[in-house]
Amino acid sequence: MTYVSPQHSVSVDSYTHNGNLFDPTKQYVCIRVWLPEGAPMKFLAESWNEGKEPDIENRPPSEVVEAISDKLEKAWIDTSRDEKRRVIEWCRANAELLDRLWAEGLIRAEQRTIARSQKRIRKLLTDYLDTDDEPQALTCDHGIEFDEETALTMQPHAIRNRWPRLHGECAKGCGFNGTAYASAQHFVWGGDWSEK
Ligand SMILES: [Zn+2]
Repeated sequence: MTYVSPQHSVSVDSYTHNGNLFDPTKQYVCIRVWLPEGAPMKFLAESWNEGKEPDIENRPPSEVVEAISDKLEKAWIDTSRDEKRRVIEWCRANAELLDRLWAEGLIRAEQRTIARSQKRIRKLLTDYLDTDDEPQALTCDHGIEFDEETALTMQPHAIRNRWPRLHGECAKGCGFNGTAYASAQHFVWGGDWSEK
């Protein structure tokens, strides 16, 4: 038995193959739209001569399905044309769902990338930067704030503007006079603090 996840994610991919028995040097590019559970087929696919295939970069499944449909209707002989037409009709009726599931899949992938980076940053901080905790940080926070979760998706200059460091005398009156950050993350993610 194979495990089938409750909802196949929708994705678009391609691969190169040589499908011509008479000319094995001839290359084709097959583009596939992987369909979710409930679809009449696992994926919809069409092959193009290499170099003639449509660009699938950042194109949602609803658009790729139309490119496949165009190619199918132009094909001289396609023994599975009727079956593919049926799948294309299903895709058109479910275009919004396909695009949404496709976007969700890409977002999940990006989130995994963020999580990996976050883990690496934490490890680097623990290994190399968290060794010199300032003792006065325990008694006064100098009014410096920093939100790591929010900062995750922000550019360094935006981080510096939103959560400024203390540079000078503490406004809370603890007597501290110098440069301080909310945390090592605050310092690192803010990039070049000498820039405005
Ligand atoms: Zn202070």
